[in-house]
Amino acid sequence: MEMKCFGCGCLKDTESLEYNTQNDDLVKDVPIEPLFVLCAESRIEGVGWKHVVVCHACFAALELDMWISSDCWKSINPVVNFRDLPEHTEDSCGKDNPEEYAHIK
Ligand SMILES: [Zn+2]
Ligand SMILES: [Zn+2]
Repeated sequence: MEMKCFGCGCLKDTESLEYNTQNDDLVKDVPIEPLFVLCAESRIEGVGWKHVVVCHACFAALELDMWISSDCWKSINPVVNFRDLPEHTEDSCGKDNPEEYAHIK
């Protein structure tokens, strides 16, 4: 399925695996999925946690610890605003299939 990175907006085919060239900690000699799903903590009043879907380059730019914050998300000037990201729930936490969020514009 083709969908965009919520950070830079680049289009990725979720079935076409990629070598990670951004981070030495991630395996380089085996191709991995082009998009990652992350949890994002809201620091905006009245807005809950969200999920972000990012490409390898945006993942590296976010300098992720265990999760990211809405401030961190804003820092990469993303194409999808924090408020428009898909809701993070107890149920969705840990699900890592980006296609679940392919409807987000
Ligand atoms: Zn990206
Ligand atoms: Zn979570």
